[in-house]
Amino acid sequence: MDHDFKLLINGQAVDGASSFDVVNPATGKPFAQCPKADEAQLDQAVAAARAAFPKWAATPVEERAAMIEKLAAALEARAAEFASLLTQEQGKPTEQAMGEVIGCTFILRAFRDRRIEEKVLRDEGGNKVIEHRTPLGVVAAITPWNFPLILMMNKVGPALITGNTMIVKPAPTTPLTTLLFAELAKDILPAGVFNVICDQNELGSKLTGHPEVDKIAFTGSTGTGKKVMASAAAMVKRVTLELGGNDAAIVLDDVDPKLVAQKIFDGAMTNAGQICVAIKRAYVPSNIYDEFCEEIARIANEAITDDGSKQGTQVGPIQNKMQFDKVRELLDDAAEKGTVLAGGKPLDRDGYFIPPTIVRDLPEDARLVQEEQFGPVLPVLKYDDIDDVVARANNSDFGLGGSVWSKDVAKGTEVAKRIDTGTVWVNQFLAIDPNIPFRGTKQSGLGAELGEAGLNEYTQAHIVNAVELA
Ligand code: NAD
Repeated sequence: MDHDFKLLINGQAVDGASSFDVVNPATGKPFAQCPKADEAQLDQAVAAARAAFPKWAATPVEERAAMIEKLAAALEARAAEFASLLTQEQGKPTEQAMGEVIGCTFILRAFRDRRIEEKVLRDEGGNKVIEHRTPLGVVAAITPWNFPLILMMNKVGPALITGNTMIVKPAPTTPLTTLLFAELAKDILPAGVFNVICDQNELGSKLTGHPEVDKIAFTGSTGTGKKVMASAAAMVKRVTLELGGNDAAIVLDDVDPKLVAQKIFDGAMTNAGQICVAIKRAYVPSNIYDEFCEEIARIANEAITDDGSKQGTQVGPIQNKMQFDKVRELLDDAAEKGTVLAGGKPLDRDGYFIPPTIVRDLPEDARLVQEEQFGPVLPVLKYDDIDDVVARANNSDFGLGGSVWSKDVAKGTEVAKRIDTGTVWVNQFLAIDPNIPFRGTKQSGLGAELGEAGLNEYTQAHIVNAVELA
């Protein structure tokens, strides 16, 4: 690819100390070079963010908001270019890539319009207590490879509007759209406010442990999240963790299985199943189990799995070789213990393609049911009793999302309230909204992104408690 990607450090587009290949998952072949930062460049980026912080924090919020709007508008103006690059590095079909890019503009604009309000907690008898909030300082934002742009914006919007400065570190297999965004930011934001460094997994721990970093906003796997939390402990740094999930969809016995099968298929297979809140196990009552399995297998068999840049592709490749191998391993285990109704084997071609796979009759302790597959593979499990299925859905160290499907919204809502996860949708999936907080329970995370709660994560609350001098 004919584009010279650069790191962004202190407002300057700079070469890395070295560089590495970025692979297109639809071909398995390198298509671009990514600059790779060394530790000295990481230090420079952190120092730049530290130096820029006081002036940025003191910049009137309306000016910061205007710059966020400029970022959104610049992204919008080049949306097709961003979407095409996203498909090449990440694999998702162009239409989904465009959805991610446009979603970014919604997130930026939602935070452009948010303001931190001072709260009066008491004002009586000469005693006035206020809570006000100030920015934290230097934020390290670390992102994964499934939604490299949108998961960065979840952090950029609240960090910048509240007056923090940033260092962003994308995942090694999807760094390029972040670097393209850095090109926009370079011309819009003051030097040092927004820095991007890239690595091949060597710099994450140095960044989180850096003494000049005040807050870590991390999205990624639970395993890495635990390391981030441990490294934050040394200085009691503020940390937001958005981690893995193993979301259950519970179908109630009053639905039309044909209608719900299509929705559950989409919830499980969008972005080739590589969504933290993808439907990762479906529980279906025995009265409609066979019909549901037949229908979802039919949909899976008809779905087009191909290069995301080809028109009509519904399911793109798995993003990287490591994940491809992990999903294959889970498939082998599932094929031994259950019945594969659709897919089941990688496509015989270059690239990391696994067609949508539906497996029925797996035991509850199968790896595909217990672990986060993060791929286009869905186990469909049978149940007879609602208490039993709620217990099975909750029997997980994860607690990210989930869904309940019913003709009766009130009944669905009652079941949803019993699911121990940060979000449960009724009759929909992936309804993530910039104004609604998103969080995980248990080992799916700590703190929130989006909404007012997501904004507050980038601030320190202070109490001022005053009385008349007497
Ligand atoms: P990962 O944990 O392997 O990597 C995430 C990021 O952490 C990358 O940028 C990586 O370079 C960096 N990193 C690696 N080692 C580090 C260390 N020791 N310290 C700090 N950073 C380090 O995750 P992944 O495989 O890229 O992403 C997939 C996972 O992300 C899945 O588990 C998925 O569920 C989760 N995810 C969660 C959410 C959410 O909002 N909860 C959203 C998307 C993805």
